[in-house]
Amino acid sequence: MPEFCAAHTLTPPAGRDSACREWDGAQPGWAVAGPLCETEVRVAVRDVPMLLWDLLDLEQQIPRPLSQALDGQPSGKPGPPIPLALAPEALQAEIVHVLTTWEAEVRARCGLSEPPERGPNLPWHTTVSKRPPLARVRAGAAVQRALAVLAPRLPELARIPATAVQATGVEDPPEDMFGWEALLHLSRLHARARSMLGRTRRTERLPGDCSGCGAYDLRRDEPRFEGDPCDVYCGQCGRQWSRDAYDQYVMLCVTGMVAA
Ligand SMILES: [Zn+2]
Ligand SMILES: [Zn+2]
Repeated sequence: MPEFCAAHTLTPPAGRDSACREWDGAQPGWAVAGPLCETEVRVAVRDVPMLLWDLLDLEQQIPRPLSQALDGQPSGKPGPPIPLALAPEALQAEIVHVLTTWEAEVRARCGLSEPPERGPNLPWHTTVSKRPPLARVRAGAAVQRALAVLAPRLPELARIPATAVQATGVEDPPEDMFGWEALLHLSRLHARARSMLGRTRRTERLPGDCSGCGAYDLRRDEPRFEGDPCDVYCGQCGRQWSRDAYDQYVMLCVTGMVAA
């Protein structure tokens, strides 16, 4: 008996009838990739590796005292105590926490080795005030390592049964979460980062209807790294096309209009 996409059981985002990206107005997509529809996994495959760039871009949003900005070393002094600094830092912390938490689960289930330790815990790193050096620069390395494990194994992540984890950070009480919830959480983290970075990052709106869901919401982000293919994607359902495929589609529309 085929089942519906598990995303449909979540609270839908504002203005939508279902949290499933394959919702067609009457029913959600079928669970074909573990408990999820194919689109949820495809969107995650596209978005989750972007979390590394999100982390780096969010870093630029955090105001630093001038002395710190110059030598690049985190000093003991706190940054400006304003919400502006808090929001990107909190999102960065959540990205690191969620990725490393599920990296550990996937490692355990796929029989991979344990992640390397952070180096020796020196005797003076045992108290609350002198923690082991989890420096900001290390967040990038941790995310890179977690992504190397997770990005090629997102379908495996989606199939992980309920596991007790701290959902968003070490302050959270442990609660049962499914791997498919984690996969959707990771996609959402990228969307949140993108909206937080929206003021500095350019997204081009392109003409045309999505061939998947019919929405008039085709977009293309500016390149974020060398060799970024900058695929065209649908803002609603997340389907994506290479620039070439989009250009061909536009040509078809144009010649179709001429013929009509
Ligand atoms: Zn779905
Ligand atoms: Zn679409």
